[in-house]
Amino acid sequence: MTAPVFAAQPYSGIASFGRVPVASDATGFDVSILGIPYDGSVSYRSGTRFGPRSIREQSLLLWGYNNVLNVAPFKTLAVADLGDVDVFPPDIVATHREIERVASKILTTNSRLISLGGDHSVSLPLLRAHAKKHGPVAVVHFDAHPDTWDSEYSGQRYSHGTPFRRAIEESLIDTSGYFQIGLRGPTNGPEDYLDAARLGAHLITFDEFRRTGIDAVLNEVRSAIGTRPTYVTLDIDAVDPAFAPGTGTPEVGGFSSYEILQLVRGLRGLNLIGFDLVEVSPAYDSSNITAILAANLVFEFLSLVALQKT
Ligand code: MN
Ligand code: MN
Repeated sequence: MTAPVFAAQPYSGIASFGRVPVASDATGFDVSILGIPYDGSVSYRSGTRFGPRSIREQSLLLWGYNNVLNVAPFKTLAVADLGDVDVFPPDIVATHREIERVASKILTTNSRLISLGGDHSVSLPLLRAHAKKHGPVAVVHFDAHPDTWDSEYSGQRYSHGTPFRRAIEESLIDTSGYFQIGLRGPTNGPEDYLDAARLGAHLITFDEFRRTGIDAVLNEVRSAIGTRPTYVTLDIDAVDPAFAPGTGTPEVGGFSSYEILQLVRGLRGLNLIGFDLVEVSPAYDSSNITAILAANLVFEFLSLVALQKT
């Protein structure tokens, strides 16, 4: 007798994301899940190279039906797990080149791409790939930090503190539709936020989010972006470390798990073209709560893509 490939128990079998099929080619799939286990450019604690594996493992308990959005994304969509990009720890430029190559290849099949980081530097080659296909894109960026430094390590242009300045310089982002949401915490000085604003980003600090409320924030984002192709990047440190401790540069006083779920769900109706979830660092996690949240946030994004299809 042959054993079934996928056992009924969620803890059995190979831990692909949500136990979707593993594939080497995105052709024929609506959505591709891609791991990017690179953490060579972090400011403080390393360890996000283990993020994709941890998120996949904690995704096993996603039951499949979204009761808030009333959709079953794994049934509505053909989803594949394409495994991980080959990274080169000592060479960020070569790593970014490989990420862009793999992402571009997936996008030529018209599959949507959901990427699991990895540190936030990986969003730069992902944006290069998406902008190559769509032109400059609107971006919804959840983060405690603007990530728009010019240089983090004397003259080095690439790190997880610089990707969005580089992306704006390379005209990958249509800044009239670029929102940074959740900013907070001490910085080197006032210029961190002033620089981001000068580059064209719309900053919504966590403080402002709490003052104005989720509906006002979502309405502002929706009306500014409209129907433009929109890329979503979610740094898990946007969430309070009490809810998501497994990350490299934690900042206290951020979103609860519920608030970030509601924010992602609130992007319903936008023309969503891609998503990345970055900065999950399992060594600092506690009872896997960060990776469980990350897996659920990917599920919410998948649900939004499923609603676009239905
Ligand atoms: Mn951050
Ligand atoms: Mn970031």
